[in-house]
Amino acid sequence: MSKLLDKIVSLCKRRGFIFQSSEIYGGLGAAYDYGPLGVELKRNVHGSWWQAMVYQHDNIEGVDASILMHPTVWKASGHVDAFHDPLIDDKASKRRYKADQLIEGHIAKLRDKGKEAQAEAVHQRLLEALNADDLPKALYAIIMDEEIRAPDSGAFDWTEVRQFNLMFETHVGPLAGSDNTIYLRPETAQGIFVNFHNVRETARLQVPFGIAQVGKAFRNEIVARQFIFRMREFEQMEMQYFVKPGTQMEAYEEWKEKRRQWHIDNGVRPEKLRWHVHEKPAHYADAAVDIMYEFPIGWQEVEGIHSRTDFDLGKHQEYSGKKMEYFDPQIKERYIPYVVETSVGLDRTILMLLSDAYREEQLENEQRVVMSFHPKIAPIKAAVFPLVKKEGMPEIAHAIEKDLRKHFNAFYDEKGSIGKRYRRMDEAGTPYCITVDGETLEDGTVTIRDRDSLEQVRIPKENVVAFVQDKVRDWQPAG
Ligand code: ATP
Repeated sequence: MSKLLDKIVSLCKRRGFIFQSSEIYGGLGAAYDYGPLGVELKRNVHGSWWQAMVYQHDNIEGVDASILMHPTVWKASGHVDAFHDPLIDDKASKRRYKADQLIEGHIAKLRDKGKEAQAEAVHQRLLEALNADDLPKALYAIIMDEEIRAPDSGAFDWTEVRQFNLMFETHVGPLAGSDNTIYLRPETAQGIFVNFHNVRETARLQVPFGIAQVGKAFRNEIVARQFIFRMREFEQMEMQYFVKPGTQMEAYEEWKEKRRQWHIDNGVRPEKLRWHVHEKPAHYADAAVDIMYEFPIGWQEVEGIHSRTDFDLGKHQEYSGKKMEYFDPQIKERYIPYVVETSVGLDRTILMLLSDAYREEQLENEQRVVMSFHPKIAPIKAAVFPLVKKEGMPEIAHAIEKDLRKHFNAFYDEKGSIGKRYRRMDEAGTPYCITVDGETLEDGTVTIRDRDSLEQVRIPKENVVAFVQDKVRDWQPAG
């Protein structure tokens, strides 16, 4: 793991953002629990997505489908047959790698060494391999021909490449058998497709319209060593936008821009985002792009925007025998709508926001770590401190805290020096700290300290709620 990622992981544990799952039993790999600050951050990001997708569009509605679905759903979607990772084991270290990622790492190394032509040739071979009938064989051939060594041990002692299905299986009822096998959903999208008619009819929607969902997904990821970047249980925020065939590219372009802007509106620095256009999208897609973020582990996907044609609804029509067509009253024709999907990981977004907000700063006589979250996603919006625990200051501070809590999450702290209390709130990413002091007793004013600029202003205590509300709404990143 990178040094920065190590620091973020440690801050997350220390401050109560994120803990390893089942820690007292030694932990469970690639599963994490959100603590008091983490759960607030997550709720705020979820809320920001819902606001941007559902409330700001009169033609998008939400659903909350169940995690367990009829097993034929996953046959129709292609997950039973094709939701595989090609894996290869280093016999020396017994470590397991995704074969395609191994090759991508090799290409990046070649590029670093200025071997552009060779890198390009391997890249082309990889693209061909990803579409080959025998993917494991094609990937294995590249690894052999290029003599790619294991990143950890440096050995060139590989097993064959094998396909591994990422879906978690379980069984309905008391007996385990192949006829009652069901799956934990590996994506939320299928819960949307199977409810296409239910939502369209009950919400009286006409194409173009969208269905949005936030929920858990499960993947038995093999290479999962990067904190909440790749988990076995995670949350997705997905929206499927149903359009008339032939208009999908317009919708695709529109959603690309809207989705990028959403990340920026949450405070992510634009220069840390870039596109990755899929040169050869999946066979059913006619365009696909990822929004990439420069994580501490390098540039990685945070969100995918895919133009998926009528593949999903068409497959469900085929497997269920139920018509998935829409009658378009404007052209008086029936068709299976095309779909543009936006799919972002909630946890991966959290890791992006944690990485983007993390700052180490040298102050006059000390160093501080500050999480510069956009106030709208910050777990705590304001903290209130009495300067001392006497002379009626705690009572006034509690009254302000109570007022603030009617509107958002606030915090009261009277322990330790003011400096220490500020430091704790800096690490929690709290944008405003309010201090009740001697002057408050005389004239009813308090100080409000800005987390990023460290500037302090004095305002009447009655105006604190409005002040924080205005700031949260109008906040702009420093610099
Ligand atoms: P990757 O290539 O990183 O495995 P993917 O292309 O399989 O991702 P999608 O199936 O398109 O991902 O899922 C959409 C989004 O869900 C991803 O952009 C990512 O943010 C999130 N996601 C996918 N897998 C995981 C995981 N194992 N842990 C956390 N988030 C994930």
